[in-house]
Amino acid sequence: MKEQIQQLSAYQPGLSPRALKEQFGLDIELHKLASNENLYGPSPKAKEAIKEHVDEVLYYPETGAPTLRKKIAEDLNIDEKRILFGAGLDEVILMISRAVLTPGDKIVTSQATFGQYYHNAIVESAEVVQVPLKENGQFDLEGILQEIDENTALVWICNPNNPTGTYVTHEELEAFLEQVPGNVPVLVDEAYFEFVTAKDFPDTLKLQEKFPNAFLLRTFSKAYGLAGLRVGYIIATEEAIHNYNIIRPPFNVGRLSEYAAVAAYEDQDYLKEIQKRNAEEREKFFAIPESKHFFDSQTNFIFVKTKRPKELYEALLKVGCITREFPIGVRITIGFPEQNAKMIEVLKNFDFEA
Ligand code: PMP
Repeated sequence: MKEQIQQLSAYQPGLSPRALKEQFGLDIELHKLASNENLYGPSPKAKEAIKEHVDEVLYYPETGAPTLRKKIAEDLNIDEKRILFGAGLDEVILMISRAVLTPGDKIVTSQATFGQYYHNAIVESAEVVQVPLKENGQFDLEGILQEIDENTALVWICNPNNPTGTYVTHEELEAFLEQVPGNVPVLVDEAYFEFVTAKDFPDTLKLQEKFPNAFLLRTFSKAYGLAGLRVGYIIATEEAIHNYNIIRPPFNVGRLSEYAAVAAYEDQDYLKEIQKRNAEEREKFFAIPESKHFFDSQTNFIFVKTKRPKELYEALLKVGCITREFPIGVRITIGFPEQNAKMIEVLKNFDFEA
């Protein structure tokens, strides 16, 4: 066994609704709002595609998700050799780490961000530098810059950041990229990109024209509502994709996953409706005075800061909402209007000062 594996633990999912009902003696319907899924689910066209192709599941998928790759490449007007798919971004992060990192390498990222950058780096015996977030929950790009040295093999920027929901602007990212050595890949994880409404959010594809080392990651798990089918992708240089593709397990994206993702991607009207509903519901949370205890959010979740996360978590559970507890607060996935209304009531009545 690799020695460093002992420092890590396997992914711990939250308790299931059934287990929670038992533990807290609850007799109400519980809604899972802990993993930032899109509760409205995917486009009906994606569900149709799954049904239409279900008889093909005896065959392996086409390697490399070629139909999906062509579709996205055409839409974004880039060469398809610059795109690579994984079984969710989880696998994309794993493949990059595996392809790049060797003992003595260093990755630089932030504290309080998506845990898989750290996890995969440790597996590959790399050193991890985690710069604290800024007071307002944003990535501290200045601080990250100071940590980049000749051993730095990867830089991970989660934008917007999970779990805070905050983002760095186009201008900030551009100024940062100006100063990062061109041979250091900067992985910009935009898992929540489709929920963003801020006008000054980075156009990372545009930045790639000037900074080929700015790599972009997106997923079908969030706004597209296909978390259960596991499709995520990276857009990078042709050379990097060539190399990461050597690591890729041959049939990593399933047949039905590819068909569903193609249909979901084609249905941009549905996606716009999801964006609109999410933005409207997000505004309702930010309209209450207690929102001064939230980090700003450009995503489908809200991080609520409190010294008593356990109490807030349990109060939300009692109205049927399963959220996610962190040491400095609770992360709430924005749900259906009924659930949001209940959570807003809880937040209004929660004593943040105690
Ligand atoms: N990056 C971020 C920032 C995430 O929040 C998540 C999911 N929680 C992922 C990557 C992984 O997403 P998936 O593997 O479902 O594409």
